[in-house]
Amino acid sequence: MPDRSFLAWPFFEERHRALAADVGHLSGISVSPTDHADVDATCRRLVRRLAEAGILRHTVPAAYGGASERLDVRTLCLVRETLARFEALADFAFAMQGLGSGAISLFGSEEQRSAYLPAVAQGRKIAAFALSEEAAGSDVAALATKAEPDGTGFVLNGAKTWISNGGIADFYVVFARTGEGPGAKGLSAFIVDADTPGLSVVERIALIAPHPLATLRFEDCRVPRARLLGEPGQGFRIAMATLDVFRPTVGAAALGFARRALDETLTRASTRQLFGGALAELQMVQGKLADMALAIDAAALLVYRAAWAQDAGSERITREAAMAKLHATEAAQAVIDDAVQLHGGLGVVAGHPVERLYREVRALRIYEGASEVQRVVIARQILAAHAKERAQGLP
Ligand SMILES: Cc1cc2nc3c(=O)[nH]c(=O)nc-3n(C[C@H](O)[C@H](O)[C@H](O)COP(=O)(O)OP(=O)(O)OC[C@H]3O[C@@H](n4cnc5c(N)ncnc54)[C@H](O)[C@@H]3O)c2cc1C
Repeated sequence: MPDRSFLAWPFFEERHRALAADVGHLSGISVSPTDHADVDATCRRLVRRLAEAGILRHTVPAAYGGASERLDVRTLCLVRETLARFEALADFAFAMQGLGSGAISLFGSEEQRSAYLPAVAQGRKIAAFALSEEAAGSDVAALATKAEPDGTGFVLNGAKTWISNGGIADFYVVFARTGEGPGAKGLSAFIVDADTPGLSVVERIALIAPHPLATLRFEDCRVPRARLLGEPGQGFRIAMATLDVFRPTVGAAALGFARRALDETLTRASTRQLFGGALAELQMVQGKLADMALAIDAAALLVYRAAWAQDAGSERITREAAMAKLHATEAAQAVIDDAVQLHGGLGVVAGHPVERLYREVRALRIYEGASEVQRVVIARQILAAHAKERAQGLP
């Protein structure tokens, strides 16, 4: 049985505790285990199932068919953690509906929200977030895809890569250079329907733990002005504010993987007999189990602190979100590595739960800002806060 004691923490309200129980129950019966042979079909099916179960309602605000007035980050984290414990692709399908439509929820006009968000919640449209380029991954401000004004709209030219849901998405939120200022100051965000002439999927990318991923090309791809999100030049702010909401949820997915790894290991260590007793009776093994549990609780505290802080106020929570993502993903990798080790040979058998987790957790330390980038973000935040205090003459 997974540890649920964290649900008693003061970060949560009763509705969160009830939701965690519901999603856990539904996950057990409807999303696990899944077929990884055809990831496109599996992801489409998972989106439908999550919609039917009402779980996708948590990815959009209530006015557009969602479950709460605005995106509730504690809910997003609890759902991701729970789904990830059962099935990585179910977590992926849920997360991408949120991330792919997040900029619309946060910055969209009434018309844009009405056109896309209900369909996301009902699983009728699959969403994607297209920021990264071959030469602009960590260095977002270097992105080169251009959007040039043209009569009543913009014409996009360039390429995006590493785009999750690329190939199966019905629309992409695309970030492109409109040139209002240098670097990050000259970007804008657009909603681009997948069937827009000039947009094509030029390459599908296979991963160590499969999920739909592609490179997109834009060739004289015309987008009406009504599909511009916010104002021209706001693209970087829109991207970063969206990532602030979703970064803690990447930590939550990592937490789900880590909890599953610990559960598998506790079962194995308690039942595996060697040297005349259970593996779990060896003190060096107990030391590892204790470190795994400690890493998980520390990660959970950071994830749910960030989620609670985001829900409690309107300020951006850049530092807390970066800390949650950084620590939880790094900790999960270490926990899962220990889980593989304590399973011995079984841990590296293809298809064993801990072997799958070992592959599934790896990308989380890279996407939505690699761990090194999170460290830079945290350092900048604390240095800026320190400089402000010094300027105010505080000791
Ligand atoms: C599975 C997966 C799914 C993805 N999904 C999406 C998506 O849906 N939409 C999207 O837009 N993008 C997506 N990405 C792209 C992802 O955000 C980028 O891969 C990530 O930002 C890193 O960029 P890069 O791959 O170009 O690596 P690079 O920018 O080349 O960085 C390589 C490495 O350099 C190190 N590094 C980078 N910056 C610093 C620094 N400042 N200081 C020290 N070290 C540093 C890090 O270790 C980093 O991993 C996805 C990526 C993966 C792997």
